[in-house]
Formats: sequence, structure tokens, C-alpha cells
Amino acid sequence: MRCYLCERVFLPQPTWSQLFTTRYEAVICERCNEQFERIDGGKALFAYNATMKDYLHRYKFLKDVALAQVFRQDIHHALRHRQEIIVPVPLHKNRLQERTFSHVHELLEQADIMYTNMLMKCVDDRQSQKTLQQRQADTKRFDLLPHVPIVNKRIVIFDDIFTTGATIFSIQQLLYEHGASHVDYITLIQA
Ligand SMILES: [Zn+2]
Repeated sequence: MRCYLCERVFLPQPTWSQLFTTRYEAVICERCNEQFERIDGGKALFAYNATMKDYLHRYKFLKDVALAQVFRQDIHHALRHRQEIIVPVPLHKNRLQERTFSHVHELLEQADIMYTNMLMKCVDDRQSQKTLQQRQADTKRFDLLPHVPIVNKRIVIFDDIFTTGATIFSIQQLLYEHGASHVDYITLIQA
């Protein structure tokens, strides 16, 4: 097996305990794996560090879609028993076209987590000349897709990275306004 990150050849050698809890074979070597900083018991699975920064760059901007597999075990483990509806944060359609795949959706796909598309992104952040603060103040950044049942639903928003919380909180507010009974969130990374 060649590590997806450093390209060294390695032998996936699960420990005895991992044999019973691990569903997927590792795609990165132990040395790379140790560079990521896991967070226990929070709403994010990993801290943002230099290794994660490099990973995100390769995954999102160099469009290396195979890297969605790196965290599939962690995401699978974190979400598989959630009873709520899992709702990924979408890209704006212009960004989707440019990136060719939705990095947030792909993380869920690779982790075999069922999700429901409920949202559309209305504002293409990169085309706007305004500052982030101005955009947050005067635009509706997300809207609901038509015909999605939401009243009294329990929802978990899933996103790749929690930075200021602006994205998550605006979606939370939107879902509550439309009748969701509970809106939680989980992200891969805490910036
Ligand atoms: Zn490696």
C-alpha cells in the first residue's frame, strides 16, 4: 500500500483492538496519521494544524478526490449512530463547477453515511467584493431547497471546517425558522 499523503510504501497493520473496530483499511501510513491532531468528545474531530492545512489544500484546491478516504473511519465512527438527519453544507454552484466535486459530500460518501440535501448556497463568497462581515450582515447566504420536509425534524449539519461559526450558525437559524425541532452540528476540523 502506498500512503496517499507521503507516498511511502507501508503495510497496514491493525492492532488487535483495531481489527474489531475498524471498518476500512488505512490509506495513509502511521507516520502521517500521527501528524493529525484528533479531538475527543467535541463537535469537531480534528484540530487545524500544519498537516491538516496541507491536507485541505490538496483535497479541496488541487482536487485530489481520493483524499476523501483519509478520514472515512473517523467520520463513519462519529456519525453512524446519529439518529438525526445529516445535512451537508453545500458549495455555491459556481464553486462546484470549478472544483468538480463537493468536498463535504464526498467525505460523507466515502464514510458510508446517509445524508439529505436540504440547502443551497445563494452567495458566491469569492465573487463578492464585500468583506466577510458585510456579507454576513446583509445577505442570506443559504436557503432551503424546495419541498424538503423540515418541520419538527432533528438535524445535524455537517461541514469540513468550523472557523468563525458564521456558516453553521446562519444555517442553524434558517432551519429553526422553518420549523426544525433541533439543529446540532459536527465538523471535520476546528480551526
Ligand atoms: Zn504517509
